[in-house]
Amino acid sequence: MRETRSTCAYCGVGCGVIIESRGGQVTGVRGDPDHPANFGRLCTKGSTLHLTAAPAITRQARLLQPMRREHRGEKPRPVSWDQALDFATETFAQVIRDHGPDSVGFYVSGQLLTEDYYVFNKLAKGLIGTNNIDTNSRLCMSSAVAGYKLTLGADAPPSCYEDVDHASCLFIAGSNAAWAHPVLFRRVEEAKARRPDMKVIVCDPRRTDTAELADLVLPLQPGTDVMLFNGLLHIMLWEGWTRPDWISRHTTGFDELKALVRECTPEVVAQVCGLAKEDLFTAAKWFATSEATLSLYCQGLNQSTSGTAKNAALINLHLATGQIGRPGAGPFSLTGQPNAMGGREVGGLANLLSAHRDLANPQHRAEVAALWGVPSVPEKPGKTAVEMFQAAADGEIRALWIACTNPAQSMPDQATVRRALQRAEFVVVQEAFATTATCEWADLLLPATTWGEKDGTVTNSERRISRVRPAVRAPGEARHDWAIVVDFARRLEARVPPPQPSPRGGGSNTVDDVALPPSPPGGGSGWGHAPDPNAARGPTLFPYPTPESIWLEHRDSTRGRDLDITGLTYPLLEQSPQQWPFPAGASQGKPRLYEDAVFPTPDGKARFVATKYKPVAEPRESRYPFSLTTGRLRDQWHGMSRTGTLPRLFGHVAEPSVQMHPQDMERRQLKDGDLVHLTSKRGSIVVPVQASSDIGLSQAFMAMHWGEEFLSGCSSTGTRLAGVNAITTSAYCPQSKQPELKHAAVKIIKAELG
Ligand code: SF4
Repeated sequence: MRETRSTCAYCGVGCGVIIESRGGQVTGVRGDPDHPANFGRLCTKGSTLHLTAAPAITRQARLLQPMRREHRGEKPRPVSWDQALDFATETFAQVIRDHGPDSVGFYVSGQLLTEDYYVFNKLAKGLIGTNNIDTNSRLCMSSAVAGYKLTLGADAPPSCYEDVDHASCLFIAGSNAAWAHPVLFRRVEEAKARRPDMKVIVCDPRRTDTAELADLVLPLQPGTDVMLFNGLLHIMLWEGWTRPDWISRHTTGFDELKALVRECTPEVVAQVCGLAKEDLFTAAKWFATSEATLSLYCQGLNQSTSGTAKNAALINLHLATGQIGRPGAGPFSLTGQPNAMGGREVGGLANLLSAHRDLANPQHRAEVAALWGVPSVPEKPGKTAVEMFQAAADGEIRALWIACTNPAQSMPDQATVRRALQRAEFVVVQEAFATTATCEWADLLLPATTWGEKDGTVTNSERRISRVRPAVRAPGEARHDWAIVVDFARRLEARVPPPQPSPRGGGSNTVDDVALPPSPPGGGSGWGHAPDPNAARGPTLFPYPTPESIWLEHRDSTRGRDLDITGLTYPLLEQSPQQWPFPAGASQGKPRLYEDAVFPTPDGKARFVATKYKPVAEPRESRYPFSLTTGRLRDQWHGMSRTGTLPRLFGHVAEPSVQMHPQDMERRQLKDGDLVHLTSKRGSIVVPVQASSDIGLSQAFMAMHWGEEFLSGCSSTGTRLAGVNAITTSAYCPQSKQPELKHAAVKIIKAELG
């Protein structure tokens, strides 16, 4: 038997695993006792990873060879890799030649490895010359990014898992960590068992399993978090629980915030948030006066039209009370996906560049252009997730490349997403699994490797970089994501005039060449040029024989940045996962940031952000009287392409349902199991209803995991729609562009099915 150390493929806790394999097959998995994220523990999902790699499941669920669909709606037929990539190259080149670089878009995933992300980003921004690359991480953590940058000056979670062991107060907001981050939550449970005097406060409209551990539960009305946090600050000021000395030495902007929260009296906050005044006082006191307060927060804050404001308002509380930069104290945003952090690090989003640089910053664009050896990086902001699919639905984006994600199920407002997939002239889906809804829309399917086969790195919520290593060879003709991108990029390079020498890196095509190639009569050169099999590739922007060679370029791009990892190597990461920053000469990474209270802002001070509470984008009203929230289940992951293959993971929750308060059900003469129409302004689905007193009155909850194969759906146009996202809204936070998946106004009516 062979053993291979790697990392779990699911959530942002980033647990280390040891994969057992025999005869080229994965035979088992166990927690890595030496990995600092989990010390040998795994949750139900992680501990069944090996079963999802069983040959029978691979045969049924995996995409095993490139496939091309001549016409939409037809069955795709197998093609060779050369045929597939030449077809992709010709089509992309033609679209770019005819309509410009911004007529294509790349939609990638927080489940890609850092190396995959890096080359996708370079392909779009460096070679093609478009910033139209975004990721499903936009749906889970872009508000946290914006919140950190606005307040602390950098996208860097300042805390670490060990802080759970030092905290005397845990403030858990918008996070059902018991289900979404189970191994980290086990650490919370142990800390509470060891130190029962540690206060645990849970803010969530639903009473989740996480709340079972709480000393104080704040079941606030959906979307009212900013009012709650501003109100807690009001109380802290009134009671003298803030730290004026610390505030004046280490922050700016407090006077403006003080003026703003003056009106957030306990009476107002209690009324808006639906909370008891005495609970507000208790929460404010514990947060401010505990020796060390650690906040853990996630999608309940992020997936909101006020996502950035919610993040900033919570960080304001840490700054006002000096609860940051000490063991057990700090605002700690949890990432949903295994490598949402890595995507941020390489700048794999429409508004970011490598090593936490900003696209909007001309100096940063020039630095990245120099690193890549291209004359410039385009200035025009790219389309973020919702904008990208809207642009495709409007005919502005004509070719879409989707990798390792399933927008035909996971994006909000599915009617628009499906219009986009329908209207796009060319859709490439690069995927490990053949079963996702998005595969149905692909003109070209490219089989990718997945967990147990991949090689590279990921970064977890506490800034810890871990190696992902292959235990077995990929099945069929599946290729690594980075290798597919590099092969495609080199073919695309071959369609533009010879690259110019550049001062750094490989040779380069100029961005202008790429954007505006000459097109002689007959289309003999430039974009759309038929491939010349004899053409020497010559210098390339993509000179990568291995994932390590990509990672080394990424590593060099971090020199002098807040996430400097120039002291790391693959061999060092193989010995032990490490946290960033880890600059050259360091002997270890930093578990905790801002211990000196110096922040990465121009004046070294953290910034208070004064933001007024704004209600949700779509408040409930007489025609749509329920607030629908969505979320995860303990044993399922995203669209179930992997977890859905294991019957045992349905033992916890067997089928989809919408949960309602028993009194609301009684008023509507509904009983458990009745089918209801769950309807918003965007569409309608039919699901069983289930009573739950964990849900507030006039609220409803539905898990995000199920798709159309489990739900019957229809819209006003008669189109079949998928899962709960047939009815969610794509309204998004103006700063982070993260959509409000946590709230939609809906009506719930008993289905009369004939
Ligand atoms: Fe995997 Fe997350 Fe479970 Fe750890 S807690 S085993 S990373 S799903």
